[in-house]
Amino acid sequence: MVRELFVHLCIMLSFMFLGGALFKNNPVFKNKKMKLLLGAIAGLLGSILMLFGIALTEGIRLDLRHMVLILSVLHGGMLSLSVAGAILIINRLLLFPITVPSLVGVLIILSCLAVFALIYRTGWGPLKKWIVMNAVGFLFNVVPLRLFIDGNDLWEIILNYSVVTVIGSVLVFYASSYISESNRNYQIMKEQLKLDFLTGLNNTRHFHTSFHDYFKKAARTGTPISFFMIDIDHFKSINDTYGHPAGDAVLQQLGLFLAESSRTGDFVSRMGGEEFAALVWNTTYEQAVVVAERWRMQIANKKFLLPSGQMLSLTVSIGVASTPPCTEANALRELADHALYRAKRLGRNQVC
Ligand code: GH3
Ligand code: MG
Ligand code: MG
Repeated sequence: MVRELFVHLCIMLSFMFLGGALFKNNPVFKNKKMKLLLGAIAGLLGSILMLFGIALTEGIRLDLRHMVLILSVLHGGMLSLSVAGAILIINRLLLFPITVPSLVGVLIILSCLAVFALIYRTGWGPLKKWIVMNAVGFLFNVVPLRLFIDGNDLWEIILNYSVVTVIGSVLVFYASSYISESNRNYQIMKEQLKLDFLTGLNNTRHFHTSFHDYFKKAARTGTPISFFMIDIDHFKSINDTYGHPAGDAVLQQLGLFLAESSRTGDFVSRMGGEEFAALVWNTTYEQAVVVAERWRMQIANKKFLLPSGQMLSLTVSIGVASTPPCTEANALRELADHALYRAKRLGRNQVC
């Protein structure tokens, strides 16, 4: 029994590891295709487990296929559960001769599906759902054995199957929580790696990795794009007068303004310090100058709230470059940069 339990768990853990790797970039809960795939993998795993049953006494083999159903419903919901259940039932009938015990096996799967669906809809936490579903799966597997076995054999089976279920459920729950948590953290880190922690805008790293793709896409589709370099005027004196936290509050509020003022398809980032960049999609040079001028005026008229409760006004200088006429990605940035310096030289609070 120990040997077979070991093989059983190795199969389950290998599948869970591969499933986790497969869904690393595509969290299951996000789309229907992934839920179907999860259900199919779970169905395949359950079918393999049926072939590697654990001998509890002479002639009686059980497996942990109900745990696979629980994993599918907890991670992929009803759709994954239905697919996994359907595959398990079909394989139960195809892989084994159709006898009374195999029909009872199908009935057990159907009962598990119904009760797991009900438990899934409760508001319980994942651990409670896991424990109750496993208890139900255990009972559904053990109770029908009374039809075929009696006496001491039955108690020996129940005892052995409880040990198998407890060891299996603890290990599988631990592994599945670990894989989900790692995948979640991986997603969070990947997202955060692109964001500026202070303003929530794209950071310089993300800007650099996306800029050339953005430019190429515009060239490929013949879409005009414009590039704004935006720099707060005399920001150092805000820090010097009101303190660094006040400067941070100003940066956050300007970041929010830029995020709210841009459209879908635009790419706004904080380039470091008090300098921001905006790639504006489908905008010609003439339109870009109008947009930049509107942003400049709106910022000049905006009141920024400092942590002390004081309201502050400020201005920005904006350098604008567009394609066309510019035809090269790096030149677009350099032109916007030069335009910004010109705006500063000409007295600030203006668009060049
Ligand atoms: P100009 O009009 O020429 O742009 O002058 P400026 O004072 O805005 O520019 P300068 O480059 O002299 O100063 C930028 C200041 O921005 C200096 C630095 O302390 C401050 N700074 C950079 N990053 C941050 C930040 O994350 N938070 C705060 N509060 N200040 C920052
Ligand atoms: Mg500045
Ligand atoms: Mg600056």
